This record gives sequence, C-alpha cells and structure tokens, in this order.
Amino acid sequence: MVHNRYDYLIIGGGLAAATAVRELIQLDPEASKGILAAEPEPPYDRPPLSKDYLLGRDARASLFLLKESTYRRYGIGLHLETPALSVDPKAHIVASPAGEIEYGRLLIASGCSLKSLEIPGAGLARFFYLRVLSDSEAIRSAAGQSRTAVMIGGGFIGLEVASALASYNINPTIVQPESRLLARYASEELSACFEELFADQGVHVIYGDVAAEIAGEGAVTAVVTKSGRTLPCDMACAGIGVYPDTAYLEGSGLTLNDGIAVNEYLEAVPGVYAAGDVANFPDLIAGRRRRIEHWDNAIAQGRTAARNMAGHREAFNHVSYFYSTMFDLTYEFFGDMTGYDEAVVRGSFERRSAAVLYLGKGSLKAALLYNRPPWERSAVQRLIAGGAPLDAVRDRLAEGSFRLDSILKADTGS
Ligand SMILES: Cc1cc2nc3c(=O)[nH]c(=O)nc-3n(C[C@H](O)[C@H](O)[C@H](O)COP(=O)(O)OP(=O)(O)OC[C@H]3O[C@@H](n4cnc5c(N)ncnc54)[C@H](O)[C@@H]3O)c2cc1C
Repeated sequence: MVHNRYDYLIIGGGLAAATAVRELIQLDPEASKGILAAEPEPPYDRPPLSKDYLLGRDARASLFLLKESTYRRYGIGLHLETPALSVDPKAHIVASPAGEIEYGRLLIASGCSLKSLEIPGAGLARFFYLRVLSDSEAIRSAAGQSRTAVMIGGGFIGLEVASALASYNINPTIVQPESRLLARYASEELSACFEELFADQGVHVIYGDVAAEIAGEGAVTAVVTKSGRTLPCDMACAGIGVYPDTAYLEGSGLTLNDGIAVNEYLEAVPGVYAAGDVANFPDLIAGRRRRIEHWDNAIAQGRTAARNMAGHREAFNHVSYFYSTMFDLTYEFFGDMTGYDEAVVRGSFERRSAAVLYLGKGSLKAALLYNRPPWERSAVQRLIAGGAPLDAVRDRLAEGSFRLDSILKADTGS
C-alpha cells in the first residue's frame, strides 16, 4: 500500500521502529502507519547476527521482528530500500526516493552506522564489518572456508565474533589497543576471567596495538599492525564502533549533537520523536545526557516514544541494560557507571558467578552481573532506580550471604 500521508511515520526499520509499530497497533489501531527503511529486509533483530545466527543455529526467519501478516492485517506501509533523505518538521514532510511523504507524528529511529577503518587494504575481499544481516551471512560463509582469522577491535562485537569464529575451528587473533579485555568495566578479575576463557578456546589476544594495513592481492592474506607485527590470515573483520549518522537531518532544525537531542518525553521538536541508538536523551536515573547503543534501550524507547506519539505524556525513566554472550558465557550490565567512586565484587569470577557493584556517592550507580540469581538482578535494578543510600551496609556488600534485596525490604519497610 503506497501512501503519501501517514498519521504515524517511522524512519528506520530496525528494533526501535518495530517496537514502536507494535505499540501503535495496540494504542491506535485505526490510524495509518508507515515505515521508511533503508535496508532491503523488514525490521530484524541484530544481536543474533554475532551469536546464534552467525553460528548457523538460528533460522533466518526467526530474526524478523514482525510477521508478514501483521504488516498486511494492519495496513502498515513498509517502504524498503527507501531511506529518508530529509525532514521538514514545520511542513510535516519527509523526503524519500519514493517522493515526499506527509506525517501526523514522526519517529526517527535510524540507528547508527559503522565506523570504518581508513587504512590500506580495507577494500580487499574477505575483509568484513558486521552491522547488517548480509554481513553476518558473508562472515559465516567465509568462516566455513578459513583456518585463520584476525579480529580488529576487542569490543562486544569483536569478542562475540571471535568467539563464534573459534567455534568454526578457526584460531582467531584479536588486536586491540586496550591493555586488557573489557578494560572499561574496571574489574581486573573480570578481565582475567574473560582472558582465561578466550585463551582456553584458542583465541589469541594482542594488547596495545592497532591494525595499520590489511595486506593481500585481491583478498586478505594478513593484517599488519602499527607495531610491525604481520598476522597471516584467511579472513579479517573489524568492529571499531558505530556513530549516529544524522547527516540527512542537517538543516531540519532538529538539534544534532552526538545523535538527535530529545527531551525526557523523547521528543525532539513538537511532533517529532527519536528512539534507539540515534537518540541523545536525558537519562533521568543516571542524571546526565547520553546515547545508548543497546538492544533493551531500543525496545524501551521505541515503546515510550510510540506511547507519547499516541497522546500519552510519559517521561522515559528506565534503568539502562545490556547483555553480551561469548561462548557459553552471558553477562549483563545495569545502569551507568560514569563517575563511580568504588567497585565492590561479590562472588567469584573464577567460580563463574560474580557481580561488580559500582557505587557513587554512597548509592548503587551500576552493576555487572555474571551468572547471578534472578532476585539479585531484580534487586540491583531497584537499587539503581531508587538510589537508596548504602553506607550502612557498605561493609557487607561483598559478603555472599548478604542479600541485596534485604536493603530494599528495610528501605520500604516491607
Ligand atoms: C551484530 C550486532 C550484535 C549486537 N548484539 C547486542 C547484544 O548482544 N546486546 C545488546 O544490548 N545490543 C546488541 N546490539 C545492539 C542492538 O542491536 C542495537 O542497539 C539496536 O539494534 C538498535 O536499534 P535501533 O532501532 O535504534 O537501530 P537499528 O536496529 O540499527 O535500526 C536502524 C535502521 O535504520 C536504518 N536507517 C538508517 N538511516 C536511515 C534513513 N535515512 N532512512 C531510513 N532508514 C534508515 C538502518 O539501515 C537500520 O536498518 C548488537 C548490534 C549488532 C549490529
């Protein structure tokens, strides 16, 4: 169905877009809804692209976030390979290759784009990035024919892809500038736990170095590092981060500063909302503006933005969360550790069940959990949200027998 006007128009076609559409179907079923999506596929879930889909365990069909019948049943105008080219919030018009489209309310959920490596050889065959479905399929296909691989970058994507490649009987080498794995999460014990896990699985990590050149004739044969190492390989991947590509919004009147600036209602200017990786929002719990490039944030913001588009007035007040999975190990992170002044470890990473509590000014700001019981997950979320003072129990926080939820009970008197 081709419309030139929608009551609700969404720019994006990813997780935040699909979540918003699902919410709008519930809240305002009769209203017209359209999605302008840059990619050729309908909205799909990205985390499996570096995990079970890359490992060949997930079926392609399981990635898609809405059923084909949902688009049909609710008359959702899904415009694939139709990127928004510009937005005019005063006229309520979005320009696209399919022409101008008028909207009642607009949600911008155009996510992030890959940062690319500006080094010689970055155009060679068998050198990959990972952001979209076809990238994951290309890496999977190359992995089946490779014996050696180099992963440039040891962030989440780098570690997840390296762990998947190791399952293909490849011994990957990770090159990263940091001096230990997951260095930004502060705990040396945590880094040591991951380093042991990766070493056990045959992944070699080079610290304090970066790729300077991808070598090969036509296809990759080695990665050469800045310090002069030559790492022979049959394939190479880079995961060096993403950025919110808002160039198409220049001149729209929206405030663009590391993403689209929105208020606590996720509104950029009247009638225009932003959600997910592209939104620069005031995190009411962390007490600062931030942009989050994680799955849970795209879902939570997609939902709140849709509710506000449909006439509610709900502030986005959510404890941020993400997870990552490498080999059989999943860890979770709640909150914002910026400005923490103390880290307390509960349990033991060696014994494969631990938590790092990040305290700031006497209350819990963030927590990293690895194999912890459900009550502890729920307790840390509530402690971060409520900001309860922990000074009285500070000395007990590291004790395995001390239940964090007892603080909440004491706090509420329940
Ligand atoms: C391989 C991979 C693994 C991940 N694993 C995890 C994980 O384990 N845990 C976790 O918390 N998070 C993970 N993430 C992050 C998570 O997937 C993202 O945070 C989430 O997808 C963001 O949703 P979004 O809707 O904001 O953006 P996206 O899902 O990126 O969707 C944005 C869409 O907008 C499109 N677009 C861009 N410009 C335009 C335009 N002008 N017009 C129309 N459409 C446009 C893009 O092509 C894209 O399809 C992973 C991401 C990747 C890539």
